[in-house]
Amino acid sequence: MPNQNQQHQSSQQTTPQHRTQRTLGIIGGMSWESTESYYRLINEGVKAQLGGLHSADLLIHSVDFGPINTLQETGEWEALGIMMASSGKRLQAAGAQGLLIATNTMHKVADEIQAATDLPIIHIADATAEAINAQGLTKIALLGTQFTMTQDFYKQRLIDAGLQVMIPADDARAEVHRIIYEELCQGQLLDSSRAYYRQVIDALAAQGAEGVILGCTEIGLLIGQGDSPIPVFDTTAIHAAAAVDFLLTDTGS
Ligand code: GLU
Repeated sequence: MPNQNQQHQSSQQTTPQHRTQRTLGIIGGMSWESTESYYRLINEGVKAQLGGLHSADLLIHSVDFGPINTLQETGEWEALGIMMASSGKRLQAAGAQGLLIATNTMHKVADEIQAATDLPIIHIADATAEAINAQGLTKIALLGTQFTMTQDFYKQRLIDAGLQVMIPADDARAEVHRIIYEELCQGQLLDSSRAYYRQVIDALAAQGAEGVILGCTEIGLLIGQGDSPIPVFDTTAIHAAAAVDFLLTDTGS
């Protein structure tokens, strides 16, 4: 029986500017809780621009975060670099034209991934610095894992972009880090931790921070602009917006 309701229109005909997309490879699963946010935000961003039934052209390699976290804790970054580079290569072989590492922390091995593939990597710290500079702020607080808050792989990129970076005191850093791995990456959103993050941001604002980077892709699940007296820069949202720009950039082909 033919289906009389079938009135297929080519999706191309409904595309306002007849734009084609590039394919983006996402190294995700760190944690899957935030990869889910990326997936939704990138699809929403593509739909906002192309309309109708359009959605993002994505390849996602969602890794098993358990063993990766063990290697982070034991400082085995060389092994992590090899694992992430392998993920990047698999995505390239599958047809990705660019890569996104869906975590701030694992940008620690971005150079290793870059060396293993010849794809552009949408760097989360660069996208974030650009968003902050666009608002004309310079003194910026950074919340994230201990790796992100204390090491140069991330902070130096912000500094190179002209920003002054402030981080919480030792004990606050430890608690911010603990909440990320013991709660947020495991889908637990506690009021007590929200209150703690608010308190940390208030203290940094009192010390002169003009804005705060939610520099871990799960923090935006817990807090948002309403929890902060200063502008909030959610790296997941900023990175997802950069991904949409990448997907929809006309390659001329
Ligand atoms: N998603 C987190 C980040 O943005 C932490 C998990 C990880 O270690 O990758 O840093």
